[in-house]
Amino acid sequence: MNIGYAQMVITPALEKPVYLAGFGNNRRAETIHDDLYARALAMQTDQTTLVLVALDLIGFFRPDVYDVIERVKTAGVAVLIASTHTHHGPDTMGLWGPDDKTCGVDAEYMSAIKEKIAAIILASLSDLQPASAKWTSVHVPGLAKNARNPEIVDDELTLAQFVNESGKPLVTLFNFPCHPEVLWEHNPHITADYPGVLRTEVEQQTGAPCIFFSGALGGMMTPDVKDHSFEEAEFMGKKLAQVGLEALSKVEGQRSYVSVEQREIKAKLTNILYKLAFGRKLLPDTRDKHGFIHTEVNLIKIGGLWLATVPGEMLPKLGLQLKAWMKEAGAGVAGVIGLANDELGYILPEEDFKYPWNPFRPGKHYEETNSIGKGIAPSVMDGLKSLL
Ligand SMILES: [Zn+2]
Repeated sequence: MNIGYAQMVITPALEKPVYLAGFGNNRRAETIHDDLYARALAMQTDQTTLVLVALDLIGFFRPDVYDVIERVKTAGVAVLIASTHTHHGPDTMGLWGPDDKTCGVDAEYMSAIKEKIAAIILASLSDLQPASAKWTSVHVPGLAKNARNPEIVDDELTLAQFVNESGKPLVTLFNFPCHPEVLWEHNPHITADYPGVLRTEVEQQTGAPCIFFSGALGGMMTPDVKDHSFEEAEFMGKKLAQVGLEALSKVEGQRSYVSVEQREIKAKLTNILYKLAFGRKLLPDTRDKHGFIHTEVNLIKIGGLWLATVPGEMLPKLGLQLKAWMKEAGAGVAGVIGLANDELGYILPEEDFKYPWNPFRPGKHYEETNSIGKGIAPSVMDGLKSLL
């Protein structure tokens, strides 16, 4: 196989208001603690060329994804664009503006980053060189907890590394299911949160770039921290980097094939809060005439590493189920890439889905108020099952 890599900074300038996405309204960015990135990993074998893109953003809707793909269409490659879901970057979806009636997205910023994402996709493709791949996974207990269902925790770190003929690392891929929200609701500093620390640490140790994808982080998989401080983000990022690199050092690179298969899926949008947001022009209304949202799932195979992509924030119970299915179907190591080619909010198990009587006071059922509806999980699971 051949692999290529490119990255670009996508930190917004602070000359005009930047509304940080992920908690309440009107959280204005005051400083830049560390840069946000778009990172692209290109993989090519005989049959397939695939570019995986990771964005340090809250989410990126499918129309925006295809707007980027349209710009690189001549390259004739499969492209998957996933957000890390950092809660300390600009609003790229619409819900976090100055108040609950005003969209927080800066259209100029959106078109600028689309140019950049297209540029790194093309740059990663012109950087292709021969590589072997290695993959493994390791459990890292104690860093993340599930705030909704404490008994269901996925603490598995899924890893891949691409090395050249002499074994020198070219790119390392990390995949972990936990919200990048060590920093918390009053933080005014732009940051990639723990994945930023993780990448920097891996890059220092390997001398090669690192790309991070969030896994099935719904549910609510969140960092198990006390102070929500930068020190804790440093600790978490460095710990994951260290454990991951140690696990990778124990496996050998091998010549590998890459494939990707896609399924289009659809699910009915039933959440009244989304309808309210459509009415207020906060979110783009992409429903068809029957009220369905069309989206997609993908199955990536990199040698024995299988990665399922899901269009939102999947709860860990479903993430664990998907990984078990992939292993039954032949995967050596399995992972889930969340918020991939779409961000439709939480993907909850059907039996766990109870839309609160008052969605403005959801209590234990907050996730339901940030989900398009009960139908998304079965569509995603059926779609991936058919690919397996
Ligand atoms: Zn979230």
